[in-house]
Amino acid sequence: MKQQSKFQITNGNCCSSAIVPLHIELNKKETSSLPVVVIGAGPIGLAAAAHLAKAGEKFIVLEAGTCVGNYIHQWGHVRLFSPWQYNVDKVARELLEKHGWDAPSPDEIPTGKELVEGYLEPVANLPEIQPYIHLNSKVLSVSKKGLDKMKSANRENVPFVLYVRQNGLIEQIEAKAIIDATGTWGQPNPINADGVWTENEKSLQSHIHYGIPDINGNDRDKYLGKRIAVIGSGHSAINTILELSQLNESNSDKKIVWILRKNNVEEAYGGEEKDALQARGELGLKIHQLVDSGQVEAYTPYRVQKVLMEDEALKIVGDLRGESVSIQGVDEVIVNTGSRPDFSFLNEIRLHIESATESVEALAPLIDPNLHSCGTVRPHGEIELRQPEENFYIVGMKSYGRAPTFLMATGYEQVRSIVAYLTGDYESAKKVELDLPETGVCSVNLTPTKQEKSCCNTTFC
Ligand SMILES: Cc1cc2nc3c(=O)[nH]c(=O)nc-3n(C[C@H](O)[C@H](O)[C@H](O)COP(=O)(O)OP(=O)(O)OC[C@H]3O[C@@H](n4cnc5c(N)ncnc54)[C@H](O)[C@@H]3O)c2cc1C
Repeated sequence: MKQQSKFQITNGNCCSSAIVPLHIELNKKETSSLPVVVIGAGPIGLAAAAHLAKAGEKFIVLEAGTCVGNYIHQWGHVRLFSPWQYNVDKVARELLEKHGWDAPSPDEIPTGKELVEGYLEPVANLPEIQPYIHLNSKVLSVSKKGLDKMKSANRENVPFVLYVRQNGLIEQIEAKAIIDATGTWGQPNPINADGVWTENEKSLQSHIHYGIPDINGNDRDKYLGKRIAVIGSGHSAINTILELSQLNESNSDKKIVWILRKNNVEEAYGGEEKDALQARGELGLKIHQLVDSGQVEAYTPYRVQKVLMEDEALKIVGDLRGESVSIQGVDEVIVNTGSRPDFSFLNEIRLHIESATESVEALAPLIDPNLHSCGTVRPHGEIELRQPEENFYIVGMKSYGRAPTFLMATGYEQVRSIVAYLTGDYESAKKVELDLPETGVCSVNLTPTKQEKSCCNTTFC
């Protein structure tokens, strides 16, 4: 039976009429009686809420968007690569089943929209969680009450204070601990290979899409019959190219331009038929065929220097193996070059962020793509995620910084461990375990070193 909750946080269209007002009556209370504040209602923020609810801990969730799973809604048409069995947090499942949840089949692979409607919304609508979710509540700044970043005296005993914009008003909320689960999807990387956002790129925004457009749905007309350049080499870029190829099958003269930074295009194909995750392996196989058939024109290793409007079409200027090469006559550009975390609202918080990946410092050696051919995920929890600012944690996609290899299952274990610590169960906080399949495939084009082989035992890589 489907869960019929009388509490409805969303109406399925990423907007809600049921926005719960903030009740800020906390100022005079002791720090210990203040809530734990979770920032962001994506899968990891909501899992944190489920663990806090189960532990009987006071909490609130602040979400900038008008619905839970706000960022996932923006790629709702995209099919994930991990099946349901890895996408649901254990405690959230427990609470859902208590309320008669009709669980999806563990082996099926949902789209982003199905993940939101079939899981995140039911979690957000649970009576144990729904009253504590505040939509339309963007966190603008976080600090320690009465102390700027420089002041150390008595810092650990002072509450956090969050400045939150809700419906145009700025509210202040005090917290005893903060779990930042704000993801990175909202801050895409630019086209420019130097990683710098230029005014020139910003001025062409009407022809550049950052993320994964709904090519077979709402964005169909924008891309039909056009010459399109796709920039990036990951799962998202490959998905985009496959959809474009179906859309423009009859326009064989309009080849899809694929711009990558890899040394050769084969590196982007991944494990293909050897990939233990069948869906991801199939993506690699299909893109390989498209490049071989000539439908996709790959430029690699290509470093974009600028994009210009010339004769009513875009011209991409860049470096290909040391030579300046221009790609002309492009109608639209789709950028899938990853994203970066937003630290702008954490200026007053003491953080240890790794300088290259911008991940939580202790995670960098595990996930840095410069060091590993796959996204190594050794089980990790509260200890690794601890910040110099006591009781402040960055979790989920944001904890990996710019590294693209984050998985929900990893984030669920992160928040389980943190909530155990915050609620005094130190033993459980230390026991971190990850239940991921063995893939054993990092890249067919690399001979894995001993270290790489072992790293692949615990990750989708
Ligand atoms: C296309 C795509 C496919 C993926 N497929 C898989 C997969 O198959 N399997 C898998 O395990 N992982 C997958 N991932 C990776 C990852 O698990 C997801 O990105 C997941 O959504 C990350 O969850 P999160 O809770 O950390 O962040 P998000 O889902 O990004 O949520 C962050 C939330 O924080 C809110 N927010 C941001 N800033 C603020 C602020 N200042 N104040 C308040 N709220 C704020 C946002 O509105 C958003 O709702 C995929 C990612 C992408 C992009």
